[in-house]
Amino acid sequence: MKIHEYQAKEILRSYGVQIPRGRVAEATEEAFLIAREIGAKKIVVKAQIHAGGRGKGGGVKVVSTPEEAEKAAGEILGMRLVTHQTGPEGRIVRKVLIEEGVEIKEELYLGVVVDRSKACPVMMASREGGVEIEKMAEETPEKIVKEWIDPLTGFKPFHANKMGYGLGLEPAQVGKMRVFFAGLYRAFWEKDCLLAEINPLVLTKSGDFVALDAKMNFDDNGLYRHKEIAALRDLNEEAPLEIEASKHNLNYVKLDGNVGCMVNGAGLAMATMDIIKVVGAEPANFLDVGGGATADMVRHGFKILISDPGVKAIFINIFGGFLRCDTLATGVTEAVRDTKVNVPVVVRLEGTNVAEGKRILKESGFHFTVAAGMKEGAEKVAEALRSSKQ
Ligand code: GDP
Ligand code: MN
Repeated sequence: MKIHEYQAKEILRSYGVQIPRGRVAEATEEAFLIAREIGAKKIVVKAQIHAGGRGKGGGVKVVSTPEEAEKAAGEILGMRLVTHQTGPEGRIVRKVLIEEGVEIKEELYLGVVVDRSKACPVMMASREGGVEIEKMAEETPEKIVKEWIDPLTGFKPFHANKMGYGLGLEPAQVGKMRVFFAGLYRAFWEKDCLLAEINPLVLTKSGDFVALDAKMNFDDNGLYRHKEIAALRDLNEEAPLEIEASKHNLNYVKLDGNVGCMVNGAGLAMATMDIIKVVGAEPANFLDVGGGATADMVRHGFKILISDPGVKAIFINIFGGFLRCDTLATGVTEAVRDTKVNVPVVVRLEGTNVAEGKRILKESGFHFTVAAGMKEGAEKVAEALRSSKQ
């Protein structure tokens, strides 16, 4: 789960991290009042969406008076902000963060993520902040300082020394940065984050460090331990079909392709997406209905697939173990009965009660294309797409 910058900053502040003074606003008058209250020479108005790259997309404005802050908020609120992370459809801005402006001397990067191959958190920092870390990692990896942190012993003062001196900071600066290193790590660890990032972390002209931006992504599996974080979920920022799927405990991720996929098991789902690409088509989603899916869950899953206008064909690829093929077939036929399905549906079933499953599909009255194997199924999907284009 993702949260907004202003929310991440509040969490970091509770860990001792320095952030600019400011508050969030949903209306222009509110923006004016907050800017007046801050009373600084420079005020920054920032669009709050769950995506980065806002600066370049026109979602961050630096102004000098409360009147100008009100005007900037008026321009940003309600705008459809397009950045390299939002996709071409962009995001409607519903909130702006009004903050005290900072005189920037240098922009640094600081982040903590899970390093899956080493099975522990890794802290990364660079003197060249502001830009995306992915780009930096690709083009100038030598400019990134990294420390892997043993989850059992946690973050220690020597980690801060290695990070700070690794960045080439002065001793006094390393001293000031300690709270950023330790605070960010503790926030990451205690809140069950997958990522916690400050980009840019700026060195001001007066020699202090401030977190100008903040981003935190949480492990959904840990949210039950953090009610206060789960409460920050902003449904406006999530794809409507993904929200619908999560209501039915379906593991669904929307993608941009044209083949709707219904699969059981994450591994088989990944393999199915791969094979769809191999035959020259593109998956429209990842959908794992899970081992213990009921006919009702399958029915909801299928409905989600067909309500995506991008879906031009459906590929059901099931290996029946705990999820029996007849349960799957019942769910799918119920969904087909309740809704108009006007795209071809290719089914590959294998495993428990496969004969019964196939019989149910056959007697449903709907024409399913049955494939003998996974590869054949993918090929039949590609074929169906080609003939529906003609
Ligand atoms: P992002 O583009 O979505 O990552 O948004 P950021 O919060 O990182 O802001 C983008 C850029 O806006 C920063 O890299 C800064 O250059 C600029 N910016 C943000 N706040 C201030 C500020 O207080 N003063 C100045 N001068 N620039 C700022
Ligand atoms: Mn940023």
